[in-house]
Amino acid sequence: MTKIKKTDQEWRAELSPEQYNVLREKGTERPFTGEYDHVFESGTYHCAGCGAELFVSDTKYDSGCGWPAFYAPASEDAVDEESDVTFGMIRTEVLCSNCGGHLGHVFPDGPYPTGVRYCINSAALKLEEE
Ligand SMILES: [Zn+2]
Repeated sequence: MTKIKKTDQEWRAELSPEQYNVLREKGTERPFTGEYDHVFESGTYHCAGCGAELFVSDTKYDSGCGWPAFYAPASEDAVDEESDVTFGMIRTEVLCSNCGGHLGHVFPDGPYPTGVRYCINSAALKLEEE
């Protein structure tokens, strides 16, 4: 269960249209357009919806897929994963465990040491540089 519960109206008031589309409507930003696609500054990536710490820059890598990619979340309970069968594909959706916001998807083609790729929308993230 997520800890933060807000109405649709509250989310709309707090988030930019792009953030709302990704986090609350499970939208996907166009590839190679996101703010953090090619950012490799060191710091922590927080949820754009609730501020929870989701990923750290140490696990970010250039996957070439057009979205920020990480091989692991900041901690095991930072994100929730759910099966997503929309668009005729079987994928695993990644959500912020704190507010339930949609972040992106996880794919089994990541690098060592985890072998998974968290493909995350920039609009769902906020980087706090160190
Ligand atoms: Zn969140």
